[in-house]
Amino acid sequence: MSLSPQQLSAQIRTDAVELGFNSVGICPAVTPTGIDHFHQWLDAGYGGQMHYLEARRAAYAHPRHVLDGVQSIVMLTLGYRTEAPEEPGPGAGRISKYAWGEVDYHDLIHARLKQFKQRILAACPEASVRGVVDTAPLLEREFAQLAGLGWIGKNTLLLNRQAGSLFFLAAILLDQPLDYDDPHTTDHCGTCTACLDACPTDAFVEPYVLDATRCISYLTIELRDPIPRELRAGIGDWLFGCDVCQDVCPWNRKAPLSEIAEFQPPAGNNPIELRSLFDLDDETFRTRFRKSPLWRPRRRGILRNAAIVLGNQPAEASIAALRKGLDDAEELIRGASAWALGQHASPGVAEILKRRREIEPVADVREEIKLALEELATTGQH
Ligand code: SF4
Ligand code: SF4
Repeated sequence: MSLSPQQLSAQIRTDAVELGFNSVGICPAVTPTGIDHFHQWLDAGYGGQMHYLEARRAAYAHPRHVLDGVQSIVMLTLGYRTEAPEEPGPGAGRISKYAWGEVDYHDLIHARLKQFKQRILAACPEASVRGVVDTAPLLEREFAQLAGLGWIGKNTLLLNRQAGSLFFLAAILLDQPLDYDDPHTTDHCGTCTACLDACPTDAFVEPYVLDATRCISYLTIELRDPIPRELRAGIGDWLFGCDVCQDVCPWNRKAPLSEIAEFQPPAGNNPIELRSLFDLDDETFRTRFRKSPLWRPRRRGILRNAAIVLGNQPAEASIAALRKGLDDAEELIRGASAWALGQHASPGVAEILKRRREIEPVADVREEIKLALEELATTGQH
């Protein structure tokens, strides 16, 4: 005998807890209320090079594009906050909290969703079920709000009064009716503007609207090109991602700590020593980072970012590493290293740049070298 929507929903809520998710909410599979806002955001170009969003813009209009015949969505959260490691010292870079562990969270959550799906199918064999995390065309925050899990804050993240925003969102779609939660209809940001005020690159166009092309997370993870010159100083010491608008949010002060072993930061990976990264070739970089979230921007993106961070904290001890970067086979790394050397007003740096300029085959990198030399000239080092 098949389960009623109430019985299946009760089973799902129990399964969510047993599988270690921190909260669960269930909503109907409908057109998300924020779809027009999302399309306007794309039209404004705020998605930058995240072309996968534009390519699937129509699909976001209804979750049936993720699962044919879908009737219900189970939204799940999994907290990733862990004890903070030490603050980065000279020559070190910061990594966004969600990437502190050694595993890619997609793999960890997918494994749990697979078990979840098996349990649902055991209870309801006729169901069609699909679990997703991040990669499907689904406005997860909208559905999480509809499922009663929180509100979308001025920093555009889903916020919950107990858990703050330091959690991953995952979803399970089913072609079965379920017992739905009430949507979360209140906004608890109030008069606070801490996230908007603290953003180092002024990425918020207005409250609730993020221009991703100015956001450090986008610049250090998604962008394949050189980081725009005017935003390089704002990167500060962020090697991968940025947590500033979450760290200043009062709702994150009491966010619970995760006990998941894979999310705990291993020694040496955060903060991460940057100069030695320039010794890694493709093979050694792959060996070290293949399973970590830092693999996404690949060696070229991480070394570009490392050069920018070293440029933001000039030190004699970084010059040798940046010199290696200036001779790297990747022009992206050479250009960023040229800029970073231009921030180092030390004897001999101008000579290093001039020698490279003579053999540099790429016009854009020669331009970076020229601008770096001009920068040095303003400090008397030329
Ligand atoms: Fe700004 Fe950092 Fe938040 Fe991006 S992640 S909006 S750069 S504070
Ligand atoms: Fe809302 Fe303030 Fe948190 Fe920003 S920092 S999301 S305004 S509560």
